[in-house]
Order: sequence, then C-alpha cells, then structure tokens
Amino acid sequence: MRDYKIVVLGAGGVGKSCLTVQFVQGLYIDVYDPTIEDSYTKEIEVDGRACNLEILDTAGLAQFTAMRELYIKSGQGFILVYSVTDQSSLDELLQIREQVLRIKEATNVPMVLVGNKCDLTNERELTPEDGIEVSRRWNKVPFYEASAMFKMNVEDAFVDVVRQIIRKEAQS
Ligand code: GDP
Ligand code: MG
Repeated sequence: MRDYKIVVLGAGGVGKSCLTVQFVQGLYIDVYDPTIEDSYTKEIEVDGRACNLEILDTAGLAQFTAMRELYIKSGQGFILVYSVTDQSSLDELLQIREQVLRIKEATNVPMVLVGNKCDLTNERELTPEDGIEVSRRWNKVPFYEASAMFKMNVEDAFVDVVRQIIRKEAQS
C-alpha cells in the first residue's frame, strides 16, 4: 500500500488538531493545547485505491524553525487551515503558502484551503466569498468551508488532497 504524507498547517487555534482527530478518529475532541504536534495514520480508499495516510498535525507556526522546513520538505500534500472567525488566520496563510512553494520549489503543490469553524455563524469575520477569492488568487486551490465540530467537509478536504497527489504522480 502506498503512503501519502499530508501536513496540516495554519495559525494556532484555527482547529488543525480538531480537524485531524475528526478525520482520523471520527470524534470531536476539544483538548485545546496549541503546543501539541502529533502524527497520525489512517487507511482510506480513494477511487478504488488503498491509501495509507500519514498526517502531521503541526503546531507553533509563529516563527520559522528548521523542523518546520523539514516536514514541509517531506510532505506531499498540504491542508492550509484558517478560521472563518479570525481574519488574521487567513492573512497568516499567505506566508505559509509562500513558504511551502519555496521549499517544494514548485507551483503545483497538492493543497487545499480550509475555512474551519463555519458553524460559528455569529462570530464570523470572513464569508465564503473571502475564501473563494483567495483560492482564485492561488491558482484555484480547492476551497472548503468546514466544521470539525459538525464533521462538515472534513473527509472531503483530506480526500481532495490525496487525489491531487495521485494525479500529480500519474503525470510525472
Ligand atoms: P489548532 O491550534 O489549530 O490545533 O486548534 P485546535 O484544533 O486545538 O482548536 C482550537 C479550538 O477551536 C478548540 O478548542 C475548539 O474549541 C475550537 N474549534 C476547533 N474546531 C472547531 C469547529 O469546527 N467549530 C467550533 N465551533 N470550534 C472549533
Ligand atoms: Mg493543534
């Protein structure tokens, strides 16, 4: 079975860990510790193909570290997460994307943009159009509004990035 290395990136508190745990374990666990960085594995089938996903749930993106460079290097697909309740978390993704493209030395890196916490209607700072706008600027990177809490679009976002990796490999 092929391995697919996926890295979940984004500002602290946007829901990277909740999304990852919801995807891997099918549970919403709210144990907020912004410093915990962990990796998970999950086997899924994508278009009839058995895939072993290795998912790295990152933390502490505030400053650049050699460590981060290392896991971006080894990652094949990236889930870039912001929170629809936090404009600055979307701003932070611009730099993160630049960093990924620079380290991967490519423009067509398998990637999805995820606006999490879409269940928090009253706390929104960003509309779906804001995400669509960024996706357009990013070469039409697939965009999902998601809720880790309500398991909305969680699986879709992970499967999308795996499909992109498969497609990219088929081309090379
Ligand atoms: P991380 O720092 O990006 O890993 O963020 P966490 O996954 O730890 O989530 C931070 C906090 O955001 C959690 O304690 C949850 O309370 C909240 N959270 C995460 N995902 C959601 C979601 O989909 N909906 C809501 N309402 N809250 C969420
Ligand atoms: Mg976390």
